[in-house]
Amino acid sequence: MGMRIGYGYDVHRLEEGRPLVLGGVAIPFAKGLAGHSDADVLLHAISDALLGACALGDIGQHFPDTDEQYAGADSRDLLQKVARLARERDYAIVNIDTTVVADSPKLSPYIGSMRDNIADDLRVDVSQVSVKATTSEGMGFEGNQEGMSARAVVLLTSGQL
Ligand code: MG
Repeated sequence: MGMRIGYGYDVHRLEEGRPLVLGGVAIPFAKGLAGHSDADVLLHAISDALLGACALGDIGQHFPDTDEQYAGADSRDLLQKVARLARERDYAIVNIDTTVVADSPKLSPYIGSMRDNIADDLRVDVSQVSVKATTSEGMGFEGNQEGMSARAVVLLTSGQL
């Protein structure tokens, strides 16, 4: 039985005048994450975890931020593409666990919608997708609302058990 583990980490800067999109959910807030794409830090961490589990590099290699094709990209599209790469190699997702670190706004009202989006994009059941949120207790770049970070781990199994 082929089991593969993957880990992803991402961080984006918070800026005024940008929409805040986390896990594909638009969240009302005074600032949003800055980046070449929609800067969905959670979906980027998951995408990197999936690519890592397949030893296929990282999302920067697959979707370069120098490529105009990905300017303003919906990170759900990128996640779907990464999931297809894994499926093409005969890997199936066992489960995904994630943590978003943000001191504000409160993310708990949006967690369910984020899980639904991620499960849809990965074509798995929502029970296989965990999204957690925590603060950094006022410390560091997440604490002073300079940015947000996300971490993700994924377990894959080869198609034939
Ligand atoms: Mg990113």
